[in-house]
Amino acid sequence: MDVTAIYPGSFDPITLGHVDVVSRASKLFSTVVMAVVDNPQKKALFDIEHRLELVRQSVAHLPNVKVVAFRGLLVKFAEAQGATVLIRGLRAISDYEYEFQLSQMNKSLYPSLETVFVMAKLDYTFVSSSMVKEVFMLGGGVDHLVPAPVQLALKQMPVSSQF
Ligand code: ADP
Repeated sequence: MDVTAIYPGSFDPITLGHVDVVSRASKLFSTVVMAVVDNPQKKALFDIEHRLELVRQSVAHLPNVKVVAFRGLLVKFAEAQGATVLIRGLRAISDYEYEFQLSQMNKSLYPSLETVFVMAKLDYTFVSSSMVKEVFMLGGGVDHLVPAPVQLALKQMPVSSQF
């Protein structure tokens, strides 16, 4: 079946957890659209262009994955992309409450959009973009948690962004 799935997130930056989720989703659906949230109100470590570039480089080995930026209501964007599946990653029970509420809200707005949860690989259950940023800014090594393009981008970051 020709099914397009959408995988939204801020991906600031993309981690190995995200790469694991999208690579597994790419085996289940004909096309996966990674939708990178462009929210000018939210302070990001990498601006939208840089985040898009890092996501593109990190999933370049997955031919049926495309990477786009989006603003506004996700369900409207999903509909415009022709997506009928919404991918979310689940790490721990603590993710569940918020994800459950979000999926019900999205269903109420766009009933034919089905949320599919992909379980995090055990090695990455503790990995989040925010923790990666926090550890990096405190001078800790994060190379084992992020794909190679992000490792490089972090190394090129001005020292002033680290403590
Ligand atoms: P984060 O929650 O890490 O700040 P995003 O907002 O970009 O990142 O998350 C996008 C989606 O990816 C969410 O569904 C989130 O639960 C999922 N996700 C994030 N990190 C992981 C991980 N390590 N394993 C599985 N799913 C993840």
